[in-house]
This record gives sequence, C-alpha cells and structure tokens, in this order.
Amino acid sequence: MKILVLGSGVIGTTSAYYLARAGHEVTVLDRQAGPALETSFANAGEVSPGYSAPWASPGLLWKAVKWLAMTYRPLVLRHRISPEMIRWGLQLLANCSDRRYALNKGRMLRLAEYSRDCLGELRQTTGLHYDQRMQGTLQLFRKQQQLDGAAADMKVLDDFGVGYELLDRAGCIAAEPALAGVAEKFLGGLRLPGDETGDCFKFTNALAEQAGALGVDFRFNSRIEAILRDGSRISGVLVNGEMHHADAYLLALGSYSPILAAPLGLRLPVYPVKGYSITVPIVDVAGAPESTVMDETYKVAVTRLGDRIRVGGTAELGGYDLTLYPARRRPLDFVVSDLFPRGGDLARASYWTGLRPMTPDGTPIIGATPYANLFLNTGHGTLGWTMAAGSGQVLADIISGHSPAIDTSDLGLARY
Ligand SMILES: Cc1cc2nc3c(=O)[nH]c(=O)nc-3n(C[C@H](O)[C@H](O)[C@H](O)COP(=O)(O)OP(=O)(O)OC[C@H]3O[C@@H](n4cnc5c(N)ncnc54)[C@H](O)[C@@H]3O)c2cc1C
Repeated sequence: MKILVLGSGVIGTTSAYYLARAGHEVTVLDRQAGPALETSFANAGEVSPGYSAPWASPGLLWKAVKWLAMTYRPLVLRHRISPEMIRWGLQLLANCSDRRYALNKGRMLRLAEYSRDCLGELRQTTGLHYDQRMQGTLQLFRKQQQLDGAAADMKVLDDFGVGYELLDRAGCIAAEPALAGVAEKFLGGLRLPGDETGDCFKFTNALAEQAGALGVDFRFNSRIEAILRDGSRISGVLVNGEMHHADAYLLALGSYSPILAAPLGLRLPVYPVKGYSITVPIVDVAGAPESTVMDETYKVAVTRLGDRIRVGGTAELGGYDLTLYPARRRPLDFVVSDLFPRGGDLARASYWTGLRPMTPDGTPIIGATPYANLFLNTGHGTLGWTMAAGSGQVLADIISGHSPAIDTSDLGLARY
C-alpha cells in the first residue's frame, strides 16, 4: 500500500519505519528541515514505563493549587484561556476519579511496557545508538510526606507488576553516587530499575536513516496546509500548494494534529502543554547523574545523555506559544545546581521549549478514524518518547491488517 505519514517527530518516524518494514511504500512529510525538530527535539530523555501515569489523578485539583503557589512552580497558567483549553480541562477533571485513573494508568502501562520491548528489539536488529542507558530512573523525595506517599504508588506498581525499589538516603547514593555531596537535601527515593534513558532526537534521526534504507521517502520543508476528503475517504493532502495522494494517510503531527483534523469534522482532544528543558555540558563526570533523577518536589527530571545533562520540566497551559520565557528556566537551573552542583557548566547550557500533545486521559490516540483510509498516531503527551516504538509497531499492525501483540481496542478515537 502507498502510505503518506504526516509528521516526522519520533511518532511519525517510528510509524514510517514499521510501515516500511511491513512492506508498504511510505512517504513522510514534515514542515521542518529534518526529523524531530519540534517536540521530539530536546525532551527529558526518559523511557519510563514505570513512570507512566496520567496527570488526571485523584486529588489533582488540590495538587495544582499547591503547584501554582510555589516559587519554582511546576504548573503555569498563562492568560490565554480558549474554549479548547476549557473543554480539555473539563475532560481532564472528569478523568480524576479512582476508577478512571486505574483504567487510564493500566492502558498507558500496557503500551509503555510493550514499547520498551519494541525498543529493545529495534536496538538488536538495527544497532541504533542514541546515548542510551539502561540504569533505571530514580524519583527523589525531599520530604517525609513524599516518602510516606510512595506507599500508594507502590501499590499501583504492585497491581501492574512493575518492579521497584524503595530506597533510603544511602540507597539513593548507591544508585546515583553524585548525590553523596548533597545528601542532606533528600530523604529517600523510589527507583524503577526497568526504566531506560536516551536522546529522542538522536534516536529519531538514526531510525529515519534506517527507514530511508528500507525505502521511506522523507520530504522535508513540506508544510501540510489541508487534508482533503471525498465522502468517507481522504482524497489527498495539500502541501506547499501541491496535492499529494496515497492509499492511506497517517496523522502524526503531535500538538498540531487537531488543527489539521478539525476541518474533517474530527475533534481530537489533544491540547499543547508547553514544557521547557536545558541541556548542560558535563564538566565533571563524577558530579553528574548516572541516569534520570526525577525531583518529585519540583517535577523536574535530570537525565544523563552522553556528555550532557538534560533537565526538563514545567507544564504551561497557554496555547501554541513557543516563547522562551526567562522565568521558566529558573526551576531547571535551580534543580540541577542544587542536586548536581559540580556536574555541568550552566553558563554554556542551551534552553529549549516544546509542546506536549496531551490527551485528557493521558493515553495517546492510535488507530482508525471514521474515514476508511485515515489513521491516527498522536496525543502522546508527556510520554511520547517512552511510547514511540510500541505505538509505531501497533499502528503499522493495524494499517496492515495484522493483530497487534497487545490489546489496542481502547487506544483509538472511539473511546471519546
Ligand atoms: C519538556 C518536555 C520533556 C519531555 N520529556 C519526556 C520524557 O522524558 N519521556 C517521554 O517519553 N516523553 C517526554 N516528553 C514528551 C515527548 O517529547 C512527546 O510526547 C513527543 O516528542 C511527541 O512526538 P510527536 O512525534 O507526536 O510530536 P512532534 O515531535 O512535535 O512531531 C510532530 C511533527 O509534525 C510536524 N508538523 C506539525 N504541523 C505540520 C504541518 N502543518 N505541516 C508539516 N509538518 C507539520 C512538526 O514539524 C513535527 O516534526 C517531553 C516533552 C517535553 C516538552
């Protein structure tokens, strides 16, 4: 089948690779000059099935009030309230019950764990290098209340069969030796030994090369202006004023997917939740993290990526605004210099922002649409890097008419 993949972020690129591997003739269109130059460019680098959980959780409203009041606040509301934001916010709140949380977490975990297996298989078959490390991730608790609260998280992890280690201060230092110098700042942590880390941008570019070798045609600097329909089928895509046709179309435009889907009468509940990261060159390896340390107080992740430290966090609600506000960098600078004061050179750090394509229930939207030849792989929110390989594989299975290895019946648009 001839397939047009719209978008070459980590999701579009993994989809294109798996579609080509299944024998399809694939073309990828993206407005950027190369793969992964938007949200997949500088995320926090966690491949973290163990941390896969929806934001919509019991008690979220109260937590949000607390976060908004903090000096280094993990949540920011900009004064750009739109009907889309309100609709999405209400759907998010409707998913905060115990029952919805368990349901949503269960399906996210299913996809994330499968995705980690697919990533492992990809590494074996392609020999990809992307500054990967398989050393787990560590959620760091500065307060007794967080340590006490870990019991609830551990119960959920037990329910879903995810391995973990509850660590005291010495245990955290054994996992992350650089923390020895700041031992008085934390009490303990929860380690997820099955989690991995790696550079999503490097991965996507390396996989795009492999996909190219399988015959995938990447067309960059291609701005998709519209998706056109003819009755119940998609008839083509308008790109830089020219029509492109295929047998099937895959929408993988991250936060921009709802904009292109809306004229087709498809309302995708995906909202752009802005995040920020800094990338700091390492100057003292012994003072740098080994893997990811997630500072639970500030919701900031600090990850070792080769000779760099990636520090990512913040959830800002304010639409499609990519301004790099200086104030948003402060929590990132603070956490990395508080926990790893000797590790990196902050003066040479680069600053970045991206829009997480968030669904209200945390699960991406993967599968068919009411249009017979239009498919979706979008809405991966905070976990697109974690879920990319598995999402690409199941999407390719669905389009090819094969049975996916995991249950995908509740991943599609129909659940809305
Ligand atoms: C600060 C931050 C930290 C994060 N940390 C993690 C993490 O540690 N682990 C994790 O798993 N996930 C993390 N994420 C989430 C992850 O980065 C995203 O879920 C993922 O990158 C989404 O990939 P995507 O391919 O769907 O979107 P994108 O990477 O944005 O790709 C969409 C593509 O569509 C193209 N496009 C859009 N509109 C058009 C158009 N009209 N015409 C042509 N092309 C178009 C864009 O150019 C882009 O290349 C983080 C995100 C942020 C912001």
